[in-house]
Amino acid sequence: MRWKNIRKSRNVEDRRGQRAGRRFGTGRPAGGGMKVGGGAGIILLLIGLFFGKDLIGPLSSGGAGIGAGTQGPTLTQGTGTTVRSNDEAADFIASILGTTETVWGELFAQAGQQYQPPKLVLFEDGVNSACGFTSSAAGPFYCPGDYKVYIDLSFFRELQKMGAGGDFAQAYVLAHEVGHHVQNLLGVSMAVQRRQRALPKVQANRLSVLTELQADCYAGVWAHHAHNRYQLLEPGDLEEGMNAAAKIGDDALMRSAGRRAHPDAFTHGTSQQRQTWLYRGLENGDHQVCDTFRDVS
Ligand SMILES: [Zn+2]
Repeated sequence: MRWKNIRKSRNVEDRRGQRAGRRFGTGRPAGGGMKVGGGAGIILLLIGLFFGKDLIGPLSSGGAGIGAGTQGPTLTQGTGTTVRSNDEAADFIASILGTTETVWGELFAQAGQQYQPPKLVLFEDGVNSACGFTSSAAGPFYCPGDYKVYIDLSFFRELQKMGAGGDFAQAYVLAHEVGHHVQNLLGVSMAVQRRQRALPKVQANRLSVLTELQADCYAGVWAHHAHNRYQLLEPGDLEEGMNAAAKIGDDALMRSAGRRAHPDAFTHGTSQQRQTWLYRGLENGDHQVCDTFRDVS
């Protein structure tokens, strides 16, 4: 990817080197902070390694586009601490975050809305958020309760070990989490969570999968516009992203854990579904094509 000359986001909070203890009874979000995609067992542990623990805000079923029912949060901007110098991994993430701010800022503006960018927290080992304490083993996540994306950069080494390395694969992971932030801003997170509470577990889980696929599609929308604006993608990048989407599909993860693919336990969608939605957003650039909930009645 060509990212070295891109403005770095200032919305990065560097908490690396800080000790995060488990704290109880703190920081429960008022709503929308529920950890989605729960379940049990070793499969989930493994899936959790690969951004399975997005503390998402799902998107609306009715195909809510940008501007639909938006009640933006009040966020402070530009107060993030600077990342360490000589820190290419963090510089990269800050630059990619900057492109998401530009792209989503423009898309929201086109719909007459103001985009409130998320903060990005870099951490090591574990972190406290409005969603509680989360270990690095859970992978990157978005907490709708505090509008922040949390990433332990060591996750990208795990991704590489899975055969999903490359800078565009990393950018896709970040853009996916920012996709959850967009979903949260669009006000659909709450709608889906409300609906999930009234559904049996299997159907509720299915809504979580659709939410995840939409975040993939939004990552594609970001890539489309970021490339048009910054010529971000180089030969091979698209393949890297598609490869990553395949490697972190639920069926692939389950198989690599020595288990049979079990659709009821899916949290993020199959390899094929993830590739399909990422590509759909990427090809089209229109967030309206990301209505993964279309067929849900
Ligand atoms: Zn996700």
